Amino acid sequence: VSLLDEVKQRADIVQVVSKYVDLDTRSRVPKGLCPFHNERSPSFVVYPETGTWHCFGACATGGDAIGFVMKKEGIPFSEALHRLAEEVGVDVRAASPAVRKPDTDPYQANEAAAAYFLARLKSPDGTAARAYLEGRSISMEVAERRGMGLAADGLETLAGHLRAKGVDGRAARDAGLVTRGRDGAWRDMFRGRLTIEIRDQQGRICGFGARSLDSSEPKYINTARSETFDKGRLLYGLNWAADTIRATGRAVVVEGYMDAIAAQEGGFKETVASMGTSVTAAQMETLARLVSRPQGQGQGSVVLCLDADAAGEEATLRELADSWKLFAVDRRGTVQIRVARPEGGKDPDEVIRADPEAWRRTVTGAVPFLEFMIDAYAARFDVATPAGKAGLFDAVRGPVLAMSNTYEQDRYWSLLAKRMGVQEDRVRAMLTRPAAGAAAARTSRRRRTGDAGPVDQAQLAAALEGRGETALEDFLLSLVLIHDDLREYAVTVPEEHFLDTLNREVFRQWLTSQNPAPREAQTDDPIRAKIEQLRLLARPPSDHPQRIEALSQCVRRLRERHLRHLKTIEEQAFTELGPQMGPETRAELGDRALESNARLRQVFAGRV
Ligand SMILES: [Zn+2]
Repeated sequence: VSLLDEVKQRADIVQVVSKYVDLDTRSRVPKGLCPFHNERSPSFVVYPETGTWHCFGACATGGDAIGFVMKKEGIPFSEALHRLAEEVGVDVRAASPAVRKPDTDPYQANEAAAAYFLARLKSPDGTAARAYLEGRSISMEVAERRGMGLAADGLETLAGHLRAKGVDGRAARDAGLVTRGRDGAWRDMFRGRLTIEIRDQQGRICGFGARSLDSSEPKYINTARSETFDKGRLLYGLNWAADTIRATGRAVVVEGYMDAIAAQEGGFKETVASMGTSVTAAQMETLARLVSRPQGQGQGSVVLCLDADAAGEEATLRELADSWKLFAVDRRGTVQIRVARPEGGKDPDEVIRADPEAWRRTVTGAVPFLEFMIDAYAARFDVATPAGKAGLFDAVRGPVLAMSNTYEQDRYWSLLAKRMGVQEDRVRAMLTRPAAGAAAARTSRRRRTGDAGPVDQAQLAAALEGRGETALEDFLLSLVLIHDDLREYAVTVPEEHFLDTLNREVFRQWLTSQNPAPREAQTDDPIRAKIEQLRLLARPPSDHPQRIEALSQCVRRLRERHLRHLKTIEEQAFTELGPQMGPETRAELGDRALESNARLRQVFAGRV
């Protein structure tokens, strides 16, 4: 039995939800005030039999116990799984030996190191480092509050200190603090550098950034990537910023540690830094989860504030090209990504210290990312030529198509037409032909896969009939995981259509990453394991039209199932909640029932 199955079996949805919601458990379906949106009369319902929950109010969404913990705590799947495992008394270590903890864990080693670095900064050895901080207007008090220190370049070493403190050598190495030389002696990883501790969202020190104090390159180095320190997933300062981001529905992303520190000190508490790389899809997803509002309660926003130089612009575009997939994840458009550029091309750190009002203006003046993207690409292509027009169109069609708000979408089609110097109906006509890049990828892929067999009709039939609990979802996912050329046909599927949280996570990860390749030594990650399992499920068909047909059948069945499911629980809600429902909830529910009826009829008529 896997950890996931064990947790699923043992977790009692009523108990899990009760930790956050005051549930009225007198009826067959316990209900309470929704923890995800503000309301006066209960529209949040728990179904003990199926282990699921649903909000009939503004959220109009639901899921299982793991999904609930993810949403409530704003944490990723595997963390929610582990937390639940702990609560229901499943021994995580027994279930998966890969996560056994060493005697002293890397976090403890990092805590010991941070204390040592701070002591060195305050010591006579720290004179140069303190002068550097003074030059950047950082007082000792701030330095201490923000976890700075000094990795001195001398005889006394961190390795020696950690040994004296009884920190396990392996833990220190796992934490990336020391390395063992060929002669068997331990050596410090950071020498002659100002250190900045980096904490994860839970506030644990998971690594360090280190800045050179002379002109030596590289200017910044970080703890090497490890299980506890993954640059692509961490956001610097999130331990300080998370509460504010959640409360205000806005996150601001800057580039450097010093920028984030200056912002925090200046009272701009929603600020985090992207760890010195361009923002990754995983980081965007973390932020999107924190800023997103329930449907109908406005949009959350993530403001990317990046270098104003040309290289910075390139990086921003690359990020945006990546993060548009995030929009595909957020089907209801509850999160908006914006781009801010500091006046005069200064670093945020400088602007904040010199003129906090100017910084405030920079952030509030951020433009929607699609607008930024269209303008930036328009400047790069020669739109006077047909090739330039096509290039611009292909560069931004995906992001525009992925928008869920059709009014905004229209706005961008007309902006795009304007930048291309053509009539709007011309742009719409271009939509019917496939993107140049997609067509090329398709051809080369066909060549590579060669003589693969056809779609297994028996497998497809079984999936459509829904044999097995998740057969349909599994089959659909295996199709898109194996055939990337189906991407454009599947990005529009709302994630809510997947009832199984693990499948929903697989789908979400597939949407946000170009190619979710297996990561080495991550066998304890249930999402990875499921992806691998799904990859083996479907036989690779060679015929593109056949694949599209199979996929669209699955998508249609998934939608139908989703609407039927909605209908059932809506009806249940009417009977169960009826008397206590507020008038607005009642009216909203009625509207939604009419809407889902209409949509169901459309599905049957084959119009969707
Ligand atoms: Zn709600």
